Amino acid sequence: MMRNHLSVILLPTNKCNVDCDYCFEDKTDDRMSLDQLYEVTFKIFDFMDESGVGALTFHWQGGEIMTMPPEWFEQANERINALAAARGKQVNHGLQTNMIGYGPRWDNVIREMFGNSVGTSMDFPNIHRKMFRGGPDDYTRLWKRNIVAAREAGIGIGVIAVLNNASLEIGAERFYSYFVDELGIEDFQVNTPFPGGLQNDTKAGLEFENLELGKFFNDLTDVWVERGMNAGVKLGPIDQLVEHFSGAPSCLPCIWQANCADEFISIDARGFVAQCDCWVTSYPEYFFGNIFESDSLAELLKNSPARKEFLDRPAAIIDQGCIECDYLSLCHGGCPVRTYTFRNTMLEKDPYCELYKTLFSHTERVAVGMSGQSGSKGPTRMIERHSADENIRGAAVVSTQLVQIGRLKRPDVKTTAV
Ligand code: SF4
Ligand code: SF4
Ligand code: SF4
Repeated sequence: MMRNHLSVILLPTNKCNVDCDYCFEDKTDDRMSLDQLYEVTFKIFDFMDESGVGALTFHWQGGEIMTMPPEWFEQANERINALAAARGKQVNHGLQTNMIGYGPRWDNVIREMFGNSVGTSMDFPNIHRKMFRGGPDDYTRLWKRNIVAAREAGIGIGVIAVLNNASLEIGAERFYSYFVDELGIEDFQVNTPFPGGLQNDTKAGLEFENLELGKFFNDLTDVWVERGMNAGVKLGPIDQLVEHFSGAPSCLPCIWQANCADEFISIDARGFVAQCDCWVTSYPEYFFGNIFESDSLAELLKNSPARKEFLDRPAAIIDQGCIECDYLSLCHGGCPVRTYTFRNTMLEKDPYCELYKTLFSHTERVAVGMSGQSGSKGPTRMIERHSADENIRGAAVVSTQLVQIGRLKRPDVKTTAV
């Protein structure tokens, strides 16, 4: 089912320290013990052996990771490393955190276990991310303080921003300036929202006009091309689309994978297994099973009716306009959880379809336009490099598959919950 790499979105805690309006997670106080983590890792390694998969990435998130002590992660890292060495496995780790609980005591584990970088989230304007006691402004103030402190400690920061109505009102130029010029963020990604989990007034207002969103994304593309691309600013998924249309290696988000069910799974603090964090925290009816109650992860996945629905989705939606779409081989019908939360079924194409088409076509035009320019540091050079030697190109495609899977979490997996 999988290629040579498995990504597991691991939630060792289902608890969070803040109270965002649009959160899709049904949060609990559950927390995984180190012995339970060992059991989970052992069963994942068994599964990798059975599936011929050699490498694993744990994408750690919650709830909120920093509601647990850093010492737990130091011990977790030691145990996983010892088991990986004994079982001949390669394990990498990524960290997604809201950074509200960050302090210097986290620096060692972030450096040793997470390659000295973290992924976090902030919206602009921030209207939905809030403290339990305090509004969005209090949240933003604390987040900014901790980001500055982490950067001073040498930690690399990547940011996921979820769009809201106020983002569309202020426009792409101001949005870009906030992250890049004001905050100094050089690696950020823009996600579309969806009303996951229990409904509330905020979530009721989350569906935007595709037209309006398309204009925002296209404007943002133009701002990035003018100001960011040659300055090394990463802006997902726009930069990856431009690279894709340039024929260069690209790391597209999970929403545009052939089938996300072939790429990774998520396991929460109670041992429940589901497609991604969105499902494992929100939709018990779509749990694949519980890893603590099953001897074999392979059997659990194989026998899951819920997982079968994910695998059947591409065939089920193909006749809904996707078969005629020029971008089918890129988009594959979009994201199951966005579809499910808006349409109450995953067997329809993504409700952001028209936005995607608009963005695909705009970024394709950008890539084609740039291929005729000289001096660009972006896709043009990549096209030249790859057309120069087809053997290099072949090797690049293989390595891209690995990188792509490794980067899945950053692009989209953690969509609104961080
Ligand atoms: S966010 Fe969507 S595309 Fe990504 S893993 Fe979850 S359901 Fe699949
Ligand atoms: S852009 Fe729309 S029509 Fe095209 S593949 Fe994606 S969901 Fe289907
Ligand atoms: S969106 Fe993330 S940070 Fe906010 S309450 Fe939910 S889990 Fe916590």
